[in-house]
Amino acid sequence: MKIYNTLTKKVEEFVPNKKGFVNMYTCGPTVYHYAHIGNLRSYIMEDILEKTLLYNGYEVNRVMNITDVGHLSSDSDSGDDKMVKSAEKQHKTVLDIAKFYTDAFFKDCEKLNIKKPETIEPATNLIPEYIKLIEGLLSKGFAYVSGGNVYFDTTKLNDYYVLTNHKEDEMVVGARQGVENDDNKRNQADFVLWFTKSKFSDQELKWESPWGLGYPGWHIECSCISMKHCGEYLDIHCGGVDNIFPHHTNEIAQSESYLGHKWCNYWVHCEHLNDKNGKMSKSNGDFLTLSTLEEKGYNPLSYRLMCLQSHYRKQLIFTFENLDNIEQTYKKLKQKISKLNKDEKEVSKEKYDLYNEKFISSINDDMNTSSALTVLYDVIKDEQLNDSTKLALINSFDKVLSLDLLKQDDEMVDDELSKIIMDKIEKRKIAKLNKDYETADKIRDELLKMNVEIMDTKETTTWKIK
Ligand code: AMP
Ligand code: ZN
Repeated sequence: MKIYNTLTKKVEEFVPNKKGFVNMYTCGPTVYHYAHIGNLRSYIMEDILEKTLLYNGYEVNRVMNITDVGHLSSDSDSGDDKMVKSAEKQHKTVLDIAKFYTDAFFKDCEKLNIKKPETIEPATNLIPEYIKLIEGLLSKGFAYVSGGNVYFDTTKLNDYYVLTNHKEDEMVVGARQGVENDDNKRNQADFVLWFTKSKFSDQELKWESPWGLGYPGWHIECSCISMKHCGEYLDIHCGGVDNIFPHHTNEIAQSESYLGHKWCNYWVHCEHLNDKNGKMSKSNGDFLTLSTLEEKGYNPLSYRLMCLQSHYRKQLIFTFENLDNIEQTYKKLKQKISKLNKDEKEVSKEKYDLYNEKFISSINDDMNTSSALTVLYDVIKDEQLNDSTKLALINSFDKVLSLDLLKQDDEMVDDELSKIIMDKIEKRKIAKLNKDYETADKIRDELLKMNVEIMDTKETTTWKIK
């Protein structure tokens, strides 16, 4: 299995630390608002990655945080706290806001068939762990206290910018845009590990610490949550490309300084979903949620298909025109599949293996989902392939694609299929009139194989898709 690693800037063969077992950490949502479909693109990519690992036979320990504390609205260590701002606006507590949007996030994930990670840890759960890690950094000389806050000293590292190609000056300027300087920092690139001097007088959540009453910086949660549930050696860490700097850069700095060894081997990042104005983002307020798509009548899985049609390392531009086309493609795809018969023919092992190999090499090629979809279309088109083999392959591919390809929706039943069903019901009625119950039962079984259930009443026979 090959995957692009942001750390080495190369597509690499994936080799986990422990044979057959993968520790995978995902930066979870900041729950001060609904996730937008850009965020969800990243979670779809991560879902494909986990399912690709599972398809390859790995056991996966998947961990995700929920940022329910101290997420600042700028990429620097100042600006407004998004959680506090949202709570104020809605006259609720920060934790109420967090719970509401966490639930909303997982509902969206469910609609997109994104598997829930085994471990989900809200940032507010592990305050003692953050304090321990910060104390460790202070005692090793990687951190300092200034103006009441604890800062990480980036000059203590040989290569702080290990994840990025950017020059130091550019990154610092980028982080500073529109944000006042923090005079407590020794170096502009240093970042906060613990705040006691909050800029926000009404900061709601605060905890006792050796440095006074305060709250953690934004980056520390992912290092600690990951170490708690995945140990000191992480295989894969993922997120959207906007997390590369400063978030993931800072995670590496603090984790490796604390541990004294390399922490994570593979860094996997999903490119942005853009709209006509550029990157879709929560903070610019003008974004699309999954509910908006549903209100407009779209199937959430059409959006999933849209994401799978493009490569995760390429920017994807969202337009409704494109989604309209994909919704049609998705409906046609499901209609074609619904017409396949679980016929009596045996699954052809040889052909199954051939197509399955093609599918595996696509997903294993740095998650080339569009090429995996081509394999699916080839299977459906192949006239030499019997329906049992097609269905077995589709069932297997859907473990990764998760497009509900074999689930029958009533609206997917087109006229042609209804005609076939009605014909069979009519033949069964005649057989019953002739007391040929054997034929009648055979027809009922045939319909069942097509996932059609029939119900006899005194007057007539009705049917439904199971
Ligand atoms: P947040 O809730 O803002 O912390 O973001 C959750 C995830 O979505 C992170 O992995 C981000 O990198 C990712 N993300 C944010 N905006 C986009 C976007 N427009 N397209 C794809 N991923 C995004
Ligand atoms: Zn994170």
